[in-house]
Amino acid sequence: AHETIYRAICTPTGEGGVLVSFQDVTSLETAGQMRRDFVANVSHELRTPLTAIQGFIETLQGPARGDQAAADRFLATMSKEAGRMIRLVGDLLSLSQVEGEERIRPTERVELHAILKSVIRTLGPAAEAAGVELLIETAAEERWLLGDPDQLMQVFVNLTENAIKYGHDGGRVILSLSEVARDPILGLPALQVDIRDFGQGFDEMHSHRLTERFYRVDSHRSRAVGGTGLGLAIVKHIVNRHKGRLKIHSEIGKGSCFSVLLPTG
Ligand code: ADP
Repeated sequence: AHETIYRAICTPTGEGGVLVSFQDVTSLETAGQMRRDFVANVSHELRTPLTAIQGFIETLQGPARGDQAAADRFLATMSKEAGRMIRLVGDLLSLSQVEGEERIRPTERVELHAILKSVIRTLGPAAEAAGVELLIETAAEERWLLGDPDQLMQVFVNLTENAIKYGHDGGRVILSLSEVARDPILGLPALQVDIRDFGQGFDEMHSHRLTERFYRVDSHRSRAVGGTGLGLAIVKHIVNRHKGRLKIHSEIGKGSCFSVLLPTG
C-alpha cells in the first residue's frame, strides 16, 4: 500500500474564517522523489570512476613516478573507467531521448529479420572476443511491423550485449524470431524475439526490477564488465513506445531468456 500525500490549501472566506481544502499530490511528490533519486544515482555513478582516476593520477605524480609498469597498469584502468563514463553519458542521452518520444507511436515499416542479422554483424567481434557463438534460429522470412528501426536495433543490441556479458560462460547466445497469433496480455497478434543465453542466470525475484534505472543483480559484476545499469531501462521505454512487452525468464545455473513481444495488429 502507498501513502497518500496531501497538500493543504487555505482560502480566507472573507468573514474572518478560513476554508481548508486538501489536494492529493502523491504523484507529484513521487515524481519529485524519483527525479532526486535519479540525480543522486547519476552523480554517484560518475563520481566513483572520477575519484578512482584522480587517485591514479596522484599516485603516478607521487609514489609511482617513473615506474613504467605501474603507469601502464594505471593507464589501462583509467582508460576503462573513462570508457564506462562515456557509455554512461551516451546511455543517459538515449534514455532521455526515448523517454521524450514514448508517447509518439513510431510509424515506419520495419523488417525484423534484417535487424537481427545486423545485430549479429555488429556484435560478432564482441561475441568472438568473449568466446561466444552468436546464432539466429529462425526461418529466414521477412517479418514486418510498424516501428522505429534504430530504436528496435538498440533493443536487440542491448539484450544481446547483456547475454554476451553475463552469459558468456554458456558459450552460445541464440536470437530467434517467431509469430504469435494472439498474445494473451497484449490481446493482439505479435512478433516475438527471444534472446537466450546459457550462462549463470539469476533469481527471478529480480526480474520485475531489472528495467529500473541502475538496478543490478550483481553490481560488482556489472561494473567489471563495463555496465552502465541503464541498458534494460532503455529497452523498456522503447518497447513501451511500440506498445509491446518484455518477458524475462531466468534460472540460476541454466541461463536467461529475454523476450520482446511487438504487436503487429
Ligand atoms: P548493465 O549495464 O548493468 O548491464 P542493464 O540494465 O543492461 O545494466 O542490466 C541490469 C542488470 O540485469 C545487470 O546488471 C545484470 O545484473 C542483469 N542482467 C541483464 N541481462 C542479464 C543476463 N542475460 N544474464 C544475467 N544477468 C543479466
